[in-house]
Formats: sequence, C-alpha cells, structure tokens
Amino acid sequence: MADGAVPQELAPREGEGRVADEVNDKSELGDLSIACGPDSCLTLDGAFAKVKEAFLAHHPDGDVALLEKAFKIGRESHRTQVRKSGEPFFFHPLAVSLSLAEWRLDAVSVACGMLHDTVEDTLMTMNQVKAEFGEEVAEIVDGLTKMSKLDFTDRHLLNAENVRKLLVAMGKDVRVLLVKLADRLHNMQTLSVMREEKRRRIARETMELYAPLANRLGMWNVRSQLEDLAFANLEPERYAELNAAVEAKRLKSEALTEEIQKTLDEALKAQGIAARVYGRSKHLFGIWKKMGAQEKGLEEIHDWLAYRIICPDRASCYTAMGLVHALYKPIPGRFKDYISLPKDNGYQSIHTSLLMPSGDAFEVQIRTPEMHDHAESGIASHWTYKEGRIANRMEINQVAFLRRMVQLHQDSSDSRELVASLKGELSFRRIQVFTPKGDVKSLTEGATPIDFAYAIHTQVGHHCVGAKVNGRMVPLKHVLVDGDRVDILTRPDHKPSRDWLAIVKSPSAKSRIQSFIREEERNHAVQMGKDRLERDAHAAGIHLDHPDVKAVLEKRLEELKQPSWDAYYASVGFGRITPYRLLEPLLPEPQRLRAPKPATVGVDEILVDDTIGVLYHLAHCCKPIWGDEVLGYVTRGRGVAIHRANCPQFNASTLHSARRVNVGWGKQGHSDFETEIVLTTEDRPGMVLAISEAIQRLSINIQRFQGSATELGGGLFHIALRVKDRVHLVELLSTLRSVRGVYTAERVRGSVFGKVV
Ligand code: MN
Repeated sequence: MADGAVPQELAPREGEGRVADEVNDKSELGDLSIACGPDSCLTLDGAFAKVKEAFLAHHPDGDVALLEKAFKIGRESHRTQVRKSGEPFFFHPLAVSLSLAEWRLDAVSVACGMLHDTVEDTLMTMNQVKAEFGEEVAEIVDGLTKMSKLDFTDRHLLNAENVRKLLVAMGKDVRVLLVKLADRLHNMQTLSVMREEKRRRIARETMELYAPLANRLGMWNVRSQLEDLAFANLEPERYAELNAAVEAKRLKSEALTEEIQKTLDEALKAQGIAARVYGRSKHLFGIWKKMGAQEKGLEEIHDWLAYRIICPDRASCYTAMGLVHALYKPIPGRFKDYISLPKDNGYQSIHTSLLMPSGDAFEVQIRTPEMHDHAESGIASHWTYKEGRIANRMEINQVAFLRRMVQLHQDSSDSRELVASLKGELSFRRIQVFTPKGDVKSLTEGATPIDFAYAIHTQVGHHCVGAKVNGRMVPLKHVLVDGDRVDILTRPDHKPSRDWLAIVKSPSAKSRIQSFIREEERNHAVQMGKDRLERDAHAAGIHLDHPDVKAVLEKRLEELKQPSWDAYYASVGFGRITPYRLLEPLLPEPQRLRAPKPATVGVDEILVDDTIGVLYHLAHCCKPIWGDEVLGYVTRGRGVAIHRANCPQFNASTLHSARRVNVGWGKQGHSDFETEIVLTTEDRPGMVLAISEAIQRLSINIQRFQGSATELGGGLFHIALRVKDRVHLVELLSTLRSVRGVYTAERVRGSVFGKVV
C-alpha cells in the first residue's frame, strides 16, 4: 500500500465516523478551556500570546518564528470552521499547543500542536506542510493524520494492521505521541457536549490506550487527568459519589491535614532542609482502583491524602524520610525507594505510607525538583535537559518498548496476539530483578525465570533449562519478586515447549515461544508432508525424480494455487490436503476412480485449544474416531497427540500434566478413522466369511483381521477397520451382533495392532 493511502477498512463507514472526527466535530464542540479560563473571551491572538509565553518561559531563545508561522497558516486553514457558539475552531489546536508548551516541549512539537488537524480536517495537503515547514514537522503531522484514522474501540481494536500503524507512527518520533496525548487531553476536557454513546466510546479508548501510554512515558500528571476524565464519563454516578465522599473527608479532616502539613514543615526547617511541602488529595481514579482491588466501600477510603516533599537534593530526601518516619507511624510494606531504584519509565521518588492519629493512612512522596519535573511531565521533561533534541530522541528508553513491539510483531498476522501484547505491555505492573552482574531487568509482575531468560535474549529463553534465584535452584514456574537476583542455566540443545505458554507472564516471551513452536511444527509438517507424498507416489509407481514427472507436478502445483513446495508439503503434513490431488494427473484411470479417501483427518476436524491448524496426530494407542471424547497431550516435535479420554495409557498423573491441552472435534469432514473391534463367536465353519460379509455390507474396508480359537472352544477375532465416526461404529457393532454365531462385538479400549500402515 502506498504510504499515506487510507486502507479500505480504515476509511470511515456510514454511521460510524472516526473518533477524531467526532471529537473535532465542529458543530458539537462546546467551550474550549483555553478560551474560558479566568481571562475568558480570549481572541485567537490572545490565546496564541499565552502559548508563546509558556514556550518562552522554558526556551528563552526558542524558535518563535516557527510558532508564528504555524499560527498564521493553521489559523488560515481552519478559517472557515467554527464551533456551535460561532467561535473559531482554531482554539482547539491552540489549546493543544499550550499543553505542549507547558510540558516544555520544543518549538517543533508546539508548532505541530497548531497544525495537527490541518491535513486531516482542512484543504491543506501533506505536501504543503512539507513545503512550508520542512521534513521534521511534516513527518509528525503525517503520523498524527495517520493516527487519527485509527479507531481503537472494541470493534476495531482487533486489527493488527491498525495497531502496527499506531506503533510505527509513535515509534518513529515520540513527539507524535506527545502531541496526540495533548490533543486527547483537550478532547477529553471538552467531551461534555458530545452525545452519551460517543462520549463513552472515547472515554473507554482513553482509559484503555492513552492513559496507559501516558503512564508508560512517565507522564503521571497527564495520566491522572486522562483517567479521571475518562472515569467521570464512564461511571458518572460512581465518580460523583466518590468525589463527594473524598471532599467530605477533606473538609472533616481539614484541621488535621493542616496540622500535619505544619508539623512536616517545621520539622524540616528545624533540620535546616529548605524543602517545600504540598498536601493534596490523590486522583480519584487512583483511589477508586485501590478500593476496587481491596473491595472496600466508600466509607472505608483511607488512602485519599498525599503529601509531597520537594527537597533540594538527593541526600536531603533521605533525611526528610527519616524525619517523617520519626513523626508518624509508618505502615509496614508500603515503603518504596524509587530513588535508588527508578521505575522503568524513569520515575524517581521515595514513597511511604503513614498513619494519622485518626487512623486514616496518608502517603508521603519525597523527591528533588528534577525528579518532580520528570514525574509530572515524564518523557517531555527530557527536552529541557538534553540538547540536540533530534539526536537524542532515539535514546529515550521509554519509547524503546514501542519499537520492540513493532519488531516483535513484524511478521505476525494474528491480531489477537499483537493486541494482547500491547495491552499487556501497558497494563501489567512491573517488578525489577537483577542479573548476576547486577544489571536490572524490568519484568511483568508474576514473571517467571523463563520471562527473565527471554528478557535477556531470545536464544537464552529458548535454551533455558533451569534457574537459580538468590543462589537457590528453583523450578521454571517459580514466581519472581522485586529485587530477586536470577541466574539462568541453559543448554544449547534445549528447546521451548508448549507447556511454557501456561507458565510465562510477559506477552513478549509468550509470543516468542509461540513463534518458535509454530516454526518447529511447520518444519515437522513439511517433513511429514514430503514423506507422505513420496510414499503415495511410490505406491502408485510414480518416480518423483523423473524430469517429465517433475514438469507435470510443477504445473499441477500452480493449478492447486500452492505458493511453494514447502507450503504444499506443510499443508499435506497438517492434513489440509492429500497428495492425491497433486498426483491425480499421473494416475491411470482406474486408480483415479478408486481415489483413496484422505488417510488422516483434515485440519478442520480437530481443534486444539480452540484453534485450527496446530500440528497433531491421532494416537495409535487408542485410535480416537470422530465424536469420541478426546484429550490432547503435547509431544516433543510431533505436535499434539490426540487420545481418547479413556485411553489406557493415561493415569491420573499424566492426565493432570501441564502438557495437557484442550482439544475437541471441529466440523466433520469426509475423512474416516481407524478403529479396532473385538468379537467373540462360536466356533463354526464359515464364521470368518459371515463376519467379513457383514462388514462389507456397510462398505467398510477391513485393514487387518486376526482370528484365533479360545480355550473354551470359541472364536476370538480382532479387526482393524476404518469408520466415519462413532455413529458409524455403533451401526457396525450392532450389525455384527446380529450375525448368527456372534456372542459379543465391542470396540477395543486401547489397540491390539498399534500402528497399521
Ligand atoms: Mn485535534
């Protein structure tokens, strides 16, 4: 697809415009916050003056000319668009720019804020943006335009192409995402004018995608705002209730909270620490989530109050912590030192929770001004401290995960995997564990040594056979905790197995194991398919190496629309097709008429863990047939073995092994299945003939027939044959029971013959 083209499925369909459209729907936009602060009724020029002021506060020598140009061109292109109130639409891009300036971003980002909707919503083209502003601005605006075409609400979320485009757009230049977050923040602030249904959809997308992304970039403040706004729209009653309850708490404890603030202030001053103390209630969604996790009611909110102590330097942070712990009773297990051990989004702070005399808990966060800046604006604050913003933008590790995701899913066509992976990356809590050399690896909470091994390197993961945690050997399913030191043991010939999928926690490890298994199974299927073709050709007297034969088969391969020999072998191996179709033109007429039915079940006939196309085979020890209750057991290198649920080979311990997978029969095809029966009969001449005639009458081919005399003077017959399914088998058995001289006719529980070729 040409770059910039809108793929069909992304184009808006009738009756369901894109989110971006809806948010920017001019007729529905109400007042915009930039226009209605304390100094309301701003003109566009007045609003732009605020943007410039905020920008210059952090970039005294910044490129104001670029901003002025963006203002002029942006205003011009949005000229005809007005809000319901008659005010210009351009207030929205200005509000976005103001946020970006306040986040201390560079001139390019702030300019892009003013231009972000131009290509999407006005007559301006990408080429014009490039001609006016150059490559850098154009690339960001292009990324934003592409993003605005993506819809991440449920129905559309499951589209790998969407997610991949989003990641690519964001991974290229993180400023695309920053402008998008500012855009979304303003859209959320002005959401109230929209219809309920649209509001909820946008709010859900914000909660599930944008707030976690902000968090991942370390932008706490933005994340809290997005979460609270989304919460208010998704659960308006809950939000109002909680808001009122927290407000009531605050009023009731006003004297107390002021006293705590004073106590902290004075204690710090007495120690000669020039610190500032701020009290605040935590963001509502944070309280709500905590209450949900602890299943507590509104009357039990204890964790609503937080203080922040900003200390001049790192050392005084620790002194302040000592003071706080001496003044109030710390709650065990709630102390976290993210200064020595920053979170992987770079967040640094000391957290501790304490008890008020009233019994309520409050939290204290202690940090330096630099750490505070970082915590408030996260990745955005890097532009303040680093020069050469473009050279540095690729180094910022918070976006490393975006690129990792893109790489990981480069060739993946399973959208569910990709989406699960993205959501997983964003939503799991993280722990930090150490390599033997002391390097930190950040992992999903609940991670195992296998996750850790994959975090080091894919090959270390594949060859992982054991692990030591803090010097002690542990099983691979051992759950790691914060601060563990992990040593991975590997063996070069070791391979990942399907069991690991049940053990690993991180989406990236999971997807790497899955692709390994898929690859392995495919290779095996290719080999099986090749063998099968050779065997069938040999049986039909066809020499595959003969040049004439080769020529015919090449042509036939094309007719069957097979992209390559390997793809064809794999299909045969997986049981999707039989060699017969390929060999057909080379077979003599009569053989064509007696075309064998497929010898193995077609792929649409069994499901492993609800998915089709997993390599499997029917176990020879119990020979399941269609309709049997079955179970799957993962084998090494031969995929999943399908056994009957009552297979004698299984005892209680293997039944509950981690190698069990759920299997079931899918749609019934035309295949038939090998099964074995046992008959007891009277010993009389013609018995064998009577039995075989009865079987032939049902058009069933006997594959193996074994008869013997019993000690009691009767006949005992073991017969292997092929039936369509259980119904067919029951029909056969009752037919046999009605044959004169047959005492019993039963299916063999296991197998007498084993593999019958
Ligand atoms: Mn916008």
